[in-house]
Amino acid sequence: MGLRLYDTARREVVPFEPPSVVRMYVCGITPYDSTHLGHAATYLAYDLLIRRLEELGHDVRMVRNVTDVDDSILPKARELGVPYLELAASEMERFRADMDALGMRPPVSEPRATDAVPLIEDLVSRLLEAGHAYLTHGTVYYDVSSFPEYGKLSHYSEDQMIRLARARGGNPDDASRRAPLDFVLWQTSGPDEPAWRAPFGVGRPGWHIECSAMAMHEHGPTLDLHGGGTDLIFPHHESEIAQSEALSGEPYARHWMHSAMVNYEGEKMSKSLGNLVFVSDLLDIADPRAIRLALLRHHYRAGFEWYDTDIEEGNALLHRLVAAVTRENGPDPRPFAARVRTALDDDLDAPRALEALDDLASAVLSGGSDESAPTTLRELGALLGLDLEKPLEPSSP
Ligand SMILES: [Zn+2]
Repeated sequence: MGLRLYDTARREVVPFEPPSVVRMYVCGITPYDSTHLGHAATYLAYDLLIRRLEELGHDVRMVRNVTDVDDSILPKARELGVPYLELAASEMERFRADMDALGMRPPVSEPRATDAVPLIEDLVSRLLEAGHAYLTHGTVYYDVSSFPEYGKLSHYSEDQMIRLARARGGNPDDASRRAPLDFVLWQTSGPDEPAWRAPFGVGRPGWHIECSAMAMHEHGPTLDLHGGGTDLIFPHHESEIAQSEALSGEPYARHWMHSAMVNYEGEKMSKSLGNLVFVSDLLDIADPRAIRLALLRHHYRAGFEWYDTDIEEGNALLHRLVAAVTRENGPDPRPFAARVRTALDDDLDAPRALEALDDLASAVLSGGSDESAPTTLRELGALLGLDLEKPLEPSSP
């Protein structure tokens, strides 16, 4: 039946049939704080997709940017009293270490916004020339009225978009813009903020244009898949479409994939509530594969609650899997393998894939005469990003 994925723009599960080389762009982090479980869950969804696509013979070119200049990293650097690029570099190093520990494939390219400023200036100049943007008091805004399809990704009403823009720092009530949804392409910098000398003024880029510039530079005008968390659908991705399509006249992304947010024990996991669960803290107490398994027990589109006991369930499953691959025989593994792949092809249904993997492990542990069973179990583990031959980490309870 082939791989099928939910597409945010079309609002349904559709066949995902990319060319042999897949141009994928996933919005990366703003490196100003540690990697939390929300990041891990998001990037795990794309890692799973990449692994399945590779198994199907694709060469997946996943680009993930680094937002190293924006409205969240600058105040944090100020608060810590360190240069923002130093903060970005140290947090990126920690992020990479956490992703690596969790078995995530690294991106083929990791462009940084600060390196992309000349590309961004070029896009902003062209948007101004083409009448899609206007300059007022040193700020360049995108003129949303020039792009009637604004909203085609999120399908939100104008009122909803204004409400969300207000909640997400978009400042729709600012009187200097012509319409509330017009968004910033270029802005003046604060006194202690980095600034670049662009033809339209000294300042720094808006956040949305950074991703359009980096994605189109790395991949050309059309991506096979663009991803990120659901909190990026609006205004970030909606605005990326408007900027990019207004310039290229081509569809910006053929498929939009978004992963849901993670809550913590009944509350939204957020910086402001102070209840972020950091990957590095979990790595101190658990085998990284147990964390990966605990996350895989949730579908990427189902927002879920993380409970501290989740890690114990991941651990228990890891113990069964690691014990089973050391056996010499088991049942005929083919029906189990078919279940795993069918589940993944059905909109990356990782919980169902894990169930099949667990069933195979349990069956292997109860006996059988097929020598290929432990090997198949190991291969299916690898497909889910788990090296089941590694011994359990000593810290694992
Ligand atoms: Zn982005």
